[in-house]
Amino acid sequence: MQTTEAPRPAERSWWLEEALMLPEFLTPEAPALHGDTSAEVVVLGGGYTGMWTAWFLKERRPELDVVLLEADICGGGPSGRNGGFCDGWWEKIRDVREVYGDDDAMELLMTCGRSPTEIGTWCRANGIDAWFRHGGDLAVATNPTHEGGWEGSLEAARALGVEDEYQVLSPDDVQKRCASPRFGGGVLIADAATVHPARLARGLRRRLIEEGVRIFEHTSVTRLGMGKTVAAETPSGTVRATEAVIGLGAWATWWKAFRPRLTLRGSYMVVTEPAPERIDELGWTGGEAIRDLRSSIHYGRTTPDGRIALGLGGLQPDLARRIDHRYDYEARYARRVANDLYRMFPSFEGVPIEAAWGGPINVSGFTMPFFGTVGKGNVHFGLGFTGNGVGPSHLGGKILASLALHAEDGFGRLAVVGRTPKRFPPEPFRSPGAFVVNAAIRRKDDREDEGRRVGRLTRAIARLPRRLGYKLGPR
Ligand SMILES: Cc1cc2nc3c(=O)[nH]c(=O)nc-3n(C[C@H](O)[C@H](O)[C@H](O)COP(=O)(O)OP(=O)(O)OC[C@H]3O[C@@H](n4cnc5c(N)ncnc54)[C@H](O)[C@@H]3O)c2cc1C
Repeated sequence: MQTTEAPRPAERSWWLEEALMLPEFLTPEAPALHGDTSAEVVVLGGGYTGMWTAWFLKERRPELDVVLLEADICGGGPSGRNGGFCDGWWEKIRDVREVYGDDDAMELLMTCGRSPTEIGTWCRANGIDAWFRHGGDLAVATNPTHEGGWEGSLEAARALGVEDEYQVLSPDDVQKRCASPRFGGGVLIADAATVHPARLARGLRRRLIEEGVRIFEHTSVTRLGMGKTVAAETPSGTVRATEAVIGLGAWATWWKAFRPRLTLRGSYMVVTEPAPERIDELGWTGGEAIRDLRSSIHYGRTTPDGRIALGLGGLQPDLARRIDHRYDYEARYARRVANDLYRMFPSFEGVPIEAAWGGPINVSGFTMPFFGTVGKGNVHFGLGFTGNGVGPSHLGGKILASLALHAEDGFGRLAVVGRTPKRFPPEPFRSPGAFVVNAAIRRKDDREDEGRRVGRLTRAIARLPRRLGYKLGPR
């Protein structure tokens, strides 16, 4: 079935619409800031990174006075809009090894590998029903060029002695887990989960308020004054604090210091109406998070009431110079993802798409986030999750809490701290260049999925980022 009508735009995301109908995710109130105040730590951004940081700060120092400032509502950005794939870094093992070397790579993989389980434990301990399900992460081939595409990861895993984390599945094995006619063989990472992203974000928000964190929503920081005391200025007041933590995700691209190291992409999702009997027919009952092996990936998962939510990454609504409404919703991409869903799961024909939405992705040149400290040693940041932040932002919160407390523990010394990714080229080359390269990557992926030949020029442009030393795009 081909959809020509664009699906309904969700209010931020279908996940947030669902969560905010429930009082436990709507309340308590978090007013906008009016007037000046002070705190020991001010956190900028109410996504997972900012909120996990506030959580770990209070866990370690319950008496600490923490203020969190969020321009929209907590979870209103990608943290409440994402696919809910909750992984460590196992999927990136090859790049992680190349960037950090074997010893640091192992430490990072093992440390972040604990986050999915710990998030599930946190939800249970805090009474947050975020639909946490430990169903694994399944990467599947959707065309012959993908088959065996996991070999590089397996080789890296063997070199590090962690090959048990991966299970290669034959096409028959994959069909038993999800009978899409488009799926070939695949590889399963068992230690991965799915969550309801907005329930997790809003649940975190509720628990933070209960623990005494002062959260101000609809409060946009317009300037951060650096010095022995930092001053987070907003149109309606200033927060002065000893330490500041920046968890602004894609919005950090407006910051001059970070702009060279971050670039923007869009990711867009749709969700169907419930059709639990068709999920049963597909045999997709194990809760697997399924993605294909394209560079501009499709990622899909089910919900407890029998929906499919599918997303497509690597899209760009414009030259990506700023974040505007096109990152929330773009009709042509909503249609595209809806059609991809029906192609991937033809048995869902006739099941309407309930809603569509999108969000900005902050991309770092080495595909991993980076953490560090600027100013007078009291402004800390965690950025560049590159479309993989649900699990890693939990570790990010521990790292940033350690940095803000100047704690001499292992988190502040992990190899993701203090290592900055390669700069992206400056404007005016950067935005048009990224646009052309992303279009070539998508074209290559699409043509391979359609069984068509990929031209040499397209292939060469798609591989340009890797040739220039970035860990982005196809090898
Ligand atoms: C459609 C989509 C699907 C995705 N799917 C997945 C997935 O399945 N698995 C996965 O691991 N990752 C996924 N991601 C990425 C993941 O959502 C992010 O990596 C993660 O949410 C980053 O969290 P964060 O807290 O760093 O940033 P954000 O969630 O972006 O939070 C930053 C916050 O800062 C606020 N802010 C901005 N400017 C200001 C300001 N001036 N003052 C105050 N506040 C401000 C924003 O409103 C926002 O709430 C997806 C992203 C998108 C968009």
